This record gives sequence, C-alpha cells and structure tokens, in this order.
Amino acid sequence: MRLPVRIVILGAGFGGLELSSRLSAELAGEVEVTLIDQGDAFIFGFSKLAVMFGRRTLEDVRLPYRRIAKPGVEFRQETVVSIDPERKRVVTNAGTYDADILVVALGADLAPEATPGLVGAGHEFYTPEGAARVREILPHFEGGNVVIAVLGGFFKCPPAPYETAFMLHDYLTRRGVREGSSIHLVTPMPKPIPVSDETSNAIVALLDERDITHSHSSWITSLDSTKVAHIKDGRELPFDLFLAVPVHRAPPVVVESGLTEDGWIPVDAKTLSTRFTDVYAVGDVTSAPVPRAGVIAEGEASTVADVLINQIKGGPTPAPFAGEVICYIEMGDSTIGKVNVNFLSGPAPTALFTPPSPEAAEEKALFASTRRQRWFG
Ligand SMILES: Cc1cc2nc3c(=O)[nH]c(=O)nc-3n(C[C@H](O)[C@H](O)[C@H](O)COP(=O)(O)OP(=O)(O)OC[C@H]3O[C@@H](n4cnc5c(N)ncnc54)[C@H](O)[C@@H]3O)c2cc1C
Repeated sequence: MRLPVRIVILGAGFGGLELSSRLSAELAGEVEVTLIDQGDAFIFGFSKLAVMFGRRTLEDVRLPYRRIAKPGVEFRQETVVSIDPERKRVVTNAGTYDADILVVALGADLAPEATPGLVGAGHEFYTPEGAARVREILPHFEGGNVVIAVLGGFFKCPPAPYETAFMLHDYLTRRGVREGSSIHLVTPMPKPIPVSDETSNAIVALLDERDITHSHSSWITSLDSTKVAHIKDGRELPFDLFLAVPVHRAPPVVVESGLTEDGWIPVDAKTLSTRFTDVYAVGDVTSAPVPRAGVIAEGEASTVADVLINQIKGGPTPAPFAGEVICYIEMGDSTIGKVNVNFLSGPAPTALFTPPSPEAAEEKALFASTRRQRWFG
C-alpha cells in the first residue's frame, strides 16, 4: 500500500477516538488520519445521567475536539452527507475525502418521532440536549407518576434505564417528593442484563426494595396528549412525567450509502470488516452480535487498529475481537457495581457480577480519566 496510507474515520465517539489514538501512537508517519465529526465535543454516555440529575453541568462534561493533538491525526468538524463505500469517497458539508481505508463509526441516531405522541408528551434523556432539558424540569416536579420507558429493541447501554430509575428514586427522595410519586420502568427486554441472571436478579431486587415497579417484555406503542401511554398488550399507563429511551436508527447517511442490511451495518464480528474492501465499521452503527455500548465500540476500534497495523506494517496475525468488556452500573445511593462480560470468545456469553463496592466506583472514575488522557491528552 502506498505510504502514507490515507485513513478516513467517520465519527469521533468511543470508536473513532480510540482508533485514531491507537493509529497515531503506533503508525504515525505511515498514515494520514482524518477524523470527521459534526459535533465540537465528545461527551461520555454516562455523563448525560450526571447532567440530568444536576450532578454536573453540560459545560463540565464536554471534551472539546479542538484539544485533540495527535501526530498524524487531523480532526475536521464537518457533517458527512454521502459515503461511497465502493470508491471509499466521503462528501461532507465542507469537502470531499478519498480514502485508502475507510472506517464508519457514526453511532446510532435517536428517532423520538418514531413513537407517536412522544415528542409532545414525553422527554428523551439520551442526547446531551435531552438530558439538559430534563434537568430543568426535575426541580419543578412535585410528585406524581413517572414512567421510564425503553421504546425500541436495540438501544445503547442496557443498564442505563435502570441507573436512571435508581438515580431518580434518590433524587425524588432527597427532594421529599418520592412518597407522593410512583416510578414504573417499561422495557421490551425480558430482563435487565440478558447475559447475566446474577446481575439481572440483583437489579430487580434493588428495584423491588425501592418500590420501583417494572414491566419487562413490554412495548409502548404510543402516548396520548392526555398523558396516557399505551402498551402493546392493551394496558394503559397514566403518567405525569415520561422519560424515554427513544427508538434508535443508523444515521440516514449510512443507510443511503448501501452499507446497511436490516437497518445496521453487518460486519465480520472478528475483524469488523464490511462487505466492501478496506471499509470497516465499529460501534453502535453495526449489527455485530454484542450490545451497543461505549466499551464495545472501543474494543472493536482497537481490533480494527490491530488489523490495520498488521496490514500496513506486517507482524503477527491480530487476535479477533473477543467481546470482553467491563460494564459499571450505578445501583443507587451513589454506589457502583460491575459486570465483566465476555460475549464472543466461548460458545455462549459469560458474565461475572460484582456487587456495589468502593473499588468499582474508583475503577469507573479511572476508566473515564484514562480515556480523557489517551484521546485528548
Ligand atoms: C445515558 C447513557 C449512558 C451510557 N452509559 C454507558 C456506560 O456507562 N458505558 C458504556 O460503555 N456505554 C455507555 N453508553 C453507550 C455509549 O455512549 C455508546 O454506546 C457509544 O458512545 C457508542 O460509540 P460509537 O463510537 O459507536 O458512537 P458515538 O459515541 O455515538 O459516536 C458517533 C459520532 O458520530 C457523529 N456523527 C453522527 N452522524 C454524523 C454525520 N452525518 N456527520 C458527522 N458526524 C456524525 C456523532 O456526532 C458522534 O460523535 C451510554 C449511553 C447513554 C445514552
């Protein structure tokens, strides 16, 4: 391959940031990396919950992309408007990029409009703007029925709706309005963390202890302006406050590129290659048989880095993506538990649950600070 190899990475989230950092550290001089994102800052997913409950401000949790100073990496704040995976050509609102290797890490878009009535009657909390809006509403909530609802089958961070329920319970208790409120969690998932009965049971026990009711395997189909949510099985849920994890979709530019099948990009689960030569995809935008999570996007990006380093420099055959991650879970009263999961290495996923501990809280803080240092330092 002619040097320097032109690598264009679309999306500077967990996947794009990890990949560009690794390529800079290990292939500087041999690659020219262009990292493109429409935003001007990265925000950890879990920071949105901290913003929503008033623990941090949006300004506190933004990591501006202008801080990226990595040899061989150029960040461009532009919006991708078309992707031609055959020619590896990308058009943005500001220019055209031809790549030798193209990596799509554009994440999942949210589609609140896909659930009739949600936009008028409910609030999504999965975007920074949505979380910031809920932060403004919560201090004025004087008690009533709260519904926390997952509205689609594929969504980012399976524990996040439960973390939201625990944090809301604490918040309303602190404000003295929990007794006059109900919290009901509705989700199409059969259990909180399907790969781990131990973690799921611990979460359900904590919900029950806090009198947070839950309906699993339940789909909300629409909301009325009279503040009633309709469930597919005919049940109706009146609410005063509706907090939603909206339906997720691949960004339209990805769908229009022809890269998707059934809505998401199919990839070889071991190398993250797509059916187009020298085009890879990582993270939430793929249909890899793993959950949508930052730690997964990061692990996949690291595997793509190994594959590209091998392709450009030679050396040992890279190990396939193992799907081995640690997920930290807010379990109420500011405690943090964790689950070590291995999705792909064995015949079936394995999981090891560690109940809340001060060590897990320290590890989560370290997780964030090491990424801040590695991606922006
Ligand atoms: C409330 C909440 C809590 C979470 N907690 C955790 C957690 O504790 N642990 C964990 O591992 N994960 C967590 N997640 C999930 C995690 O944030 C995502 O799974 C992760 O960000 C996916 O990484 P990604 O690189 O695939 O996509 P993203 O990080 O979403 O990055 C995609 C990027 O593409 C950009 N983009 C999209 N379209 C365009 C376009 N047309 N042009 C230019 N740029 C574009 C976007 O601006 C974005 O920056 C949480 C998510 C939420 C919402």
